[in-house]
Amino acid sequence: VSRVIPVDTFDLVIFGGTGDLARRKILPGLFRRFCAGQIPSDARIIGAARGEMDNDAYREIVAEAVREFSGSHHCEDGTLEGFLEKLSYAHVDARGEDGWETLKQLMSRDGRIEAFYFSVAPGLFGDIAKRLHAHGMVSPTCRVVVEKPFGRDLQSARELNQTLAQHFDESQIYRIDHYLGKETVQNLMAVRFGNVLFEPLWNSQYIDHIQITVAETVGVGGRGEYYDRSGAMRDMVQNHLMQLLCLIAMEPPAKFDPDAVRDEKLKVIRALEPVMPHHVVRGQYMAGEDEDAHPDYRTAVGDPRSKTESFIAMKVNLANWRWAGTPFYLRTGKRMSARSSEIAVVFKPLPHTIFEDVEHGTNRNVLAIQLQPNEGITMDVTIKEPGPGGMRLIDVPLDMTFAEALGPEVEDPPDAYERLIMDVIRGNQTLFMRGDEVEAAWAWTDPIIAGWEARGDVPKPYESGGSGPVEADQLMARDGLIWREIT
Ligand code: NAD
Repeated sequence: VSRVIPVDTFDLVIFGGTGDLARRKILPGLFRRFCAGQIPSDARIIGAARGEMDNDAYREIVAEAVREFSGSHHCEDGTLEGFLEKLSYAHVDARGEDGWETLKQLMSRDGRIEAFYFSVAPGLFGDIAKRLHAHGMVSPTCRVVVEKPFGRDLQSARELNQTLAQHFDESQIYRIDHYLGKETVQNLMAVRFGNVLFEPLWNSQYIDHIQITVAETVGVGGRGEYYDRSGAMRDMVQNHLMQLLCLIAMEPPAKFDPDAVRDEKLKVIRALEPVMPHHVVRGQYMAGEDEDAHPDYRTAVGDPRSKTESFIAMKVNLANWRWAGTPFYLRTGKRMSARSSEIAVVFKPLPHTIFEDVEHGTNRNVLAIQLQPNEGITMDVTIKEPGPGGMRLIDVPLDMTFAEALGPEVEDPPDAYERLIMDVIRGNQTLFMRGDEVEAAWAWTDPIIAGWEARGDVPKPYESGGSGPVEADQLMARDGLIWREIT
């Protein structure tokens, strides 16, 4: 049975169509949807970027990107050719008049869905929007997709929102956070709101605390200069970790509709208690064993005095009835021991145990939502160890991934970008951030960052390939807790 839901035909323009993101994610993602039979036969994809080239040269670039980055979808040549036929290229200058009329000619303008993907530096969003408008390409139903970073503080995010609002209605703007496109993130909502089992326990009476970890093994790589101007708080916490926190903490929306869901997420952000800047653990990674291959953070970004953090650990409280008394611990870093993103909902211990064997079972249920490297949800439950050994308890994971039950389509779920691009075509904004959400998140992080800057706060060095500075463990130890292992 095919689970592919067809979409209406479309013209998709990718500004920055020759860039790194387009080559690694957007175009391979579209190709995989093409292989799945989801791209209508007369849909068009138009790459728009600065370099001059003809359609054939662009198709060659895309073919190479697809071969390298489309993962397990090994395309026969015929399939790839079919995909490439949908592509064309327009040389446009966001800051000048070159190419815009040519681009307009390439679009069919026959009432089909039109989407513009701004996969360029945010500084160009305004220029592109203005020129799309001036050349009569903005229709009331067209859509724009914008990439992160969405501002670097409240002020710049507001300006970006205002710029976009001059040309597009909020219902036309799709702010991507690719964490929201992950299969498991949506599964989390299904598990919470599609079962009677979880929601009655989903509060501070039964949940002890929640840990959200996003650990990367890579360092800043070639993005050193860019990264050093942002740091982990801006690059990861304000967007990705905050979005995950919202989905865990939000009240049940009245229906699964974009604004109902986003209203509830916004309420979560507004309920965040302020955090004292000095209560946040900041770290910078040290060199790996092979210093040439894995230099320390400051060498990697080329600033021996850099005070930007590549690691954050913090405790966050929500001031509302559901969560008062249940802390959320957030942690993210580069050059950690493993690449792993996980949300762990740690339930309270049993009020009383009737079993003598207290050694083996932990008497704690943990719901672990794994986003990376493998997606899946498990629930640790305590059971009797099978066998004749008497009433010995063990904790075993109850696997809610269902990969085996649901077959190969689920084992190889669409990548976050594939799903989100198809949502744009469908006109479904549920998994995209609304302008007010982004601003509220900056309003919460700004004073923390300002506090560090005012104090000249210097991040703590931490070992490459470890689990962050020792202060991160102390943060948990003060509450009698430990971090979950990063595996
Ligand atoms: P990139 O530098 O690799 O590509 C930039 C693209 O923009 C190129 O196609 C270039 O031709 C085009 N461009 C530059 N100036 C232009 C102009 N004046 N007129 C028209 N086109 C112009 O950048 P990237 O890494 O692909 O990133 C694109 C956007 O996506 C950025 O906002 C970035 O922050 C965001 N992003 C990137 C990644 C990633 O992994 N690369 C991840 C998340 C978000």
